[in-house]
Amino acid sequence: MIVAIDGPTASGKGTIAKKVAAHFNLPLLDTGLLYRAVGKTLLDDGGDADNEDDALAACGFDDALLDDDRLRDEDIGSLASRVSVHAAVRKALFERQQNFAYQDGGAVLDGRDIGTMIAPDADVKLFVTASPQVRAQRRHREMIARGRNVSEQQMLDDIKARDERDSGRRAAPLKPAQDAHLLDTTNLAIGDAVQQAIALIQKKLQNQT
Ligand code: C5P
Repeated sequence: MIVAIDGPTASGKGTIAKKVAAHFNLPLLDTGLLYRAVGKTLLDDGGDADNEDDALAACGFDDALLDDDRLRDEDIGSLASRVSVHAAVRKALFERQQNFAYQDGGAVLDGRDIGTMIAPDADVKLFVTASPQVRAQRRHREMIARGRNVSEQQMLDDIKARDERDSGRRAAPLKPAQDAHLLDTTNLAIGDAVQQAIALIQKKLQNQT
């Protein structure tokens, strides 16, 4: 079974993907980390995120970087969003994601274009959303817990800028697949959102048999 979980930043999709993968005993790929690794590599190399050649050169990152906690910082998220605009970057990361999705036994992937581009025939597609304000609050709490000194307003500005860039880009824009289930977590505790996601997947599986 392939489960595609897409949505904007801080919508809860990452937590939902982790819990869903554990529940169904499936391997998980957080595809945002790949773009973050490109962003971080580009930063270290002194490249320009808006230059496609610089961004493409950063796609040969070392896999050990994927475990670096620094990738979760907001400035790296912003850089990830800028490098992910380039078609050449998306192409360079495509095969790795698709191989993961179509491995024997199935997989869970979370990102922006899993249901639309990476695994268009996934068995279940979820599109997780929440209001920008609630997402900014969540991201702010997460950053404070990690000892980062940022304001909620900064988080909101960043989230809005990223939403606009991710949804407005020409290459694989952030949008729900036609056959995706929408899950709005604005007024949901994360535990309830996870339960709803698992119930949706179970229902879909039952209908398949
Ligand atoms: O999900 P996360 O916030 O870690 O993603 C960082 C950035 O990487 C996103 O803002 C988006 O621009 C990009 N991304 C993407 N396609 C994916 C996953 C992430 O374009 N499948």
